[in-house]
Order: sequence, then C-alpha cells, then structure tokens
Amino acid sequence: MNARRIALITIIALAGLLLIGLAGCKKEEEPAAPPAAPSAADIEAVAAAAAESVEQTTCPIMGAKIDKSIYTEYKGKKVYFCCAGCKEKFEAAPEDYLVKLPQFKQ
Ligand SMILES: [Zn+2]
Repeated sequence: MNARRIALITIIALAGLLLIGLAGCKKEEEPAAPPAAPSAADIEAVAAAAAESVEQTTCPIMGAKIDKSIYTEYKGKKVYFCCAGCKEKFEAAPEDYLVKLPQFKQ
C-alpha cells in the first residue's frame, strides 16, 4: 500500500512539475511585439509610388521621352517636354495637349 501511495504522490508531483513547466513555457510565449506601425518613410514611399503611376514619361507634343529639366507649370502641375520647342507649343495651346498628360486625367 505504501509503495503505491508513494508512486501516486510521485506521479502527482511530476504532473505538478509538468504543469508548472508548461505554464513557464506559456509565459515565454508572451505575444511578440506588435508589428511596427508604418513609419513616415514608408508612407512617403507609398505616396511616391502613387504619384509615380500618374507621372508623365513622354512629351505631350512629340511623344518622345521627357527631359525633366524642361518643364512648365500648368494649373499647379508640372508638365515635362522633350525639348524647349515643345514647351513653347504647349504654352501656346495647353488645352490641346492635356489629353496626353496623365497628371490631368481623372
Ligand atoms: Zn520636343
């Protein structure tokens, strides 16, 4: 009888230790730090990517690749051209070329 009792107590004690051990493990699994909120740099990158999608890449007059140093501002937006001649043409009749400009498309 005594031996059985000792065995039972041992099992209970071991079970108790196991539970404590599991509890300890659970504690270590405390929720990891929440994912960092998007930083200002990330937001800027997203905004830049969005701006990129409506960015002009070709000259509205000739359809050639734009030169970013040749531009005019129309209705608060920059319009780029491939050469100074195109800039002059645009400024003479900007409305004629707006359909070719992604930044003016809705
Ligand atoms: Zn040109």
